[in-house]
Amino acid sequence: MAGNITYTMIKPDAVAAGNTGAIIKMIEEAGFRIVAMKMTKMSAETAGKFYAVHKERPFYADLCAYMSSGHIVPMILEKDNAVEDFRKLIGATNPANAEPGTIRKLFAKSIEANAIHGSDSDENANIEANFFFGAVDRF
Ligand code: UDP
Ligand code: MG
Repeated sequence: MAGNITYTMIKPDAVAAGNTGAIIKMIEEAGFRIVAMKMTKMSAETAGKFYAVHKERPFYADLCAYMSSGHIVPMILEKDNAVEDFRKLIGATNPANAEPGTIRKLFAKSIEANAIHGSDSDENANIEANFFFGAVDRF
C-alpha cells in the first residue's frame, strides 16, 4: 500500500465554518477514495502528540490550542501517488502563498487556521493514519 495512501484532517476552522462537505467534495472529485473517516475532537495533549515533530517551533503551543479548539474530520485517503497529489490539492501552508483553486486558498483563514492537514511523506502518512485509526493495513 506504500505510496497509495495519505492522511488528512479537516481542521477546526473549516469544520466550524461549515466547509466540511465542500472540502470532502473537492477531495472526491480530485480522485481520492475515502477509506476511513470520523468526526472527533482532540485534547490539547493529543494535539501535542500529533504535532510532536514541531515541539521546538515557536508556533507549537498556539497550534496545539487551536487544533484542540473544535471538531476535526480525520480521514485516510487512497489514490496513486496520494501524498504528493494531495499536497498539490491543498496548496501551501500559508494560504497567502497557496495556488488558486487549492483547498487552502479557498477555505483557509490564516497560516495557522489553514483548513486542512496533509501528510508530507509515505512514512508519515502511515504513522498519522495509525495515530487516528489503528493499523492502516486494515484499510
Ligand atoms: N503553522 C503555524 N505557523 C507556521 C507554520 C505552521 O501555525 O508558521 C501550523 C499550520 O496549521 C500548519 C501546521 O502548523 O499546517 C504544521 O506545520 P507544517 O510546516 O508541517 O505545515 P503543513 O505540512 O501543514 O503545510
Ligand atoms: Mg506538515
